Amino acid sequence: MISPRIEIDLTAVEHNAHELVKALKRRNIGVTGVTKATLGSPEVAHAMMRGGVKRLADSRIENLEAMRDAGIRVPMTLLRAPAPEWADRAVACSQASMVSDLGIVTALSVAAGKRALIHGIILMVELGDLREGIMVADVLDAARVISRTRHVVLAGIGTNLACRSGVVPGDDQMQELSALATTIGSKFGVPTPLVSGGNSANLAWALGKDRVGAINDLRLGESILLGLDPLTRKPVPGLRQDAFTVVAPVIESLVKPTAPWGLRGQAAFGKPDAARSRGTIVQTIVALGRQDVDPDGLTPPVGMSILASSSDHLVLETPGRLAAGSELRFTPDYSALLRAMTSPFVPERLLTMAVGVPDKEPATR
Ligand SMILES: *Cc1c(COP(=O)(O)O)cnc(C)c1O
Repeated sequence: MISPRIEIDLTAVEHNAHELVKALKRRNIGVTGVTKATLGSPEVAHAMMRGGVKRLADSRIENLEAMRDAGIRVPMTLLRAPAPEWADRAVACSQASMVSDLGIVTALSVAAGKRALIHGIILMVELGDLREGIMVADVLDAARVISRTRHVVLAGIGTNLACRSGVVPGDDQMQELSALATTIGSKFGVPTPLVSGGNSANLAWALGKDRVGAINDLRLGESILLGLDPLTRKPVPGLRQDAFTVVAPVIESLVKPTAPWGLRGQAAFGKPDAARSRGTIVQTIVALGRQDVDPDGLTPPVGMSILASSSDHLVLETPGRLAAGSELRFTPDYSALLRAMTSPFVPERLLTMAVGVPDKEPATR
């Protein structure tokens, strides 16, 4: 199998989805599986569904379309508001969109009307992280406008924390969102069926002891895929961290000095590290670069360390010389995963492991 590649253990994805669905069910919270870090991979989506996920979401219309084309029929939500000219494709491939601007609601209404559809609007509320969301003071007016707009329904409200500013989702924000949902329900007689409290960064709150209130949904990507809590990047207990592995081949492995020589200017990606001589080392290059992954997000094999990276070369220090063509295996973080999955240079290899036993004939594509 050619490398570089990204290996995806679908069993680990299924396991993580199953554990999270189970744990959150005890708190009356449903799970929307978020597929965007895998480019809307239908196989990953199916693994999430085998784990008990009943609805999916992605930030990209192209990914939702790919999953629809692959025959996936569960309800799908568009996580990022579509630009007005994308409204037609949005209503065609998803049941609902997360929106915070009434101009987008209008565009979705027109698009849904043309196709004789009713499109769901999940109104996003700004609770302090300063990414998407309408200010709290404007929520009720917006809800009223949406409830009176043809071809759309107010399908729910939601919020998103942590992604831009690292604001920690907690009891304050969740109670505020709950209260808004309740008020909208009583004021306009429009129930907001979905109250979506946030992303994987909400897990510590959701699995803690605070009241859940009206929150009945979380949108989970990173925790299902990598088994990590994005606030701390620590493993979530009971989840697997080995679903994704980036594999790349050695193309040079030589004994070299640690300090460069010659007059020095800028390197390909800015200021190079200060040269500090440690004598000679084994320097190994693998055919993997910034066009393939985010090198800063890779964990190398034990005993090896990443020294530098450029567009196409990852330079490592290894304990000994490695044969050209031998493969090294790296664990990607969210950023490296996202880049690898969206790079045309990194094909996927899908694996279904029976607890530690490699599948005889892994699916390939
Ligand atoms: C990406 C995204 C998510 C999922 O985030 P994770 O941290 O991967 O769980 C949820 N909601 C929105 C709006 C997103 O863009």
